Amino acid sequence: MALMSGTALAREILDDAARRARARTGRKPCLATVLAGDDPASVTYVRMKQKRCAATGIDSRHVALPASATTRELVAAITELGEDEAVDGILLQHPVPRHIDERAAFEAIPPGKDVDGVTMHSFAAMAFGLPGFVSCTPGGIVRLLDAHGVDPAGQRAVVIGRSPILGKPAAMLLLARDATVTVCHSRTANLAEHVRQADIVVAAVGKPEFVRGDWIKPGAVVVDAGYNPGNVGDVEFDQARQRASLITPVPGGVGPVTIALLLEQTVAAANGEGQPEIVQSGR
Ligand code: NAP
Repeated sequence: MALMSGTALAREILDDAARRARARTGRKPCLATVLAGDDPASVTYVRMKQKRCAATGIDSRHVALPASATTRELVAAITELGEDEAVDGILLQHPVPRHIDERAAFEAIPPGKDVDGVTMHSFAAMAFGLPGFVSCTPGGIVRLLDAHGVDPAGQRAVVIGRSPILGKPAAMLLLARDATVTVCHSRTANLAEHVRQADIVVAAVGKPEFVRGDWIKPGAVVVDAGYNPGNVGDVEFDQARQRASLITPVPGGVGPVTIALLLEQTVAAANGEGQPEIVQSGR
């Protein structure tokens, strides 16, 4: 078993983003973060992203709304950032308070500023194999595979989870790389049997150590996107590592690459570029 660490890859992506940010003439790229409410984990994630921005030569701007904010107020705040020429990328921290229509809020982000890849436009671009911003965690997963010499073409990939920001786009990106993809979810029958067939397993469930180590096919590549309290992933790491050929640690696997992609895409947005290279065959 070898570890598929994300820290070195994230460093590389951030160094390159910093170099491209410095090479710009005029103002620095700017990422706007938007947070509704004060969920402690979300506050921490936003702070981490702002700190990374500062270290990478990217300005950040923060818009904080109370937990009582309405969908209309959140949409208005995002629309304003969308119209602001000094803002290149917009990140709405997920999840939003339950009474808010999250989809309406995401869709208020103009496609050219959707550096977190959460809009229908970005999803369609991923699905059609067209240029556009990728969803950061799924994009990070593909970059991790690339960096470790894993070619998904012809491989059986099983994605556990079908959320619009993680499981579904991860499946689209793996399909674009010519994997044969099965998407599992809470209504999947015989989940363990699906996982046992997989050459590549992507766990995106949000339940600590939910994927048992003995489900992993010997030699499989395991990507654990889960992040649960206590720094625990969605995969039973100690058991799975004994069977996997490559496995991501939690923390230090998918997480750092996700943030690095967010910043890379912010610089790309400032330079008026999308990021087409992740999607290859795109049929
Ligand atoms: P989510 O929206 O709650 O989606 C969870 C998915 O898991 C759903 O599709 C759900 O199926 C599926 N699921 C739940 N129980 C299941 C079961 N018993 N068997 C099979 N599938 C089951 O979560 P998310 O936002 O995608 O996040 C998933 C995990 O990734 C979380 O731990 C989160 O913290 C982590 N995450 C990490 C990053 C990062 O940067 N590393 C970024 C985002 C999220 P249904 O659709 O049928 O309900």
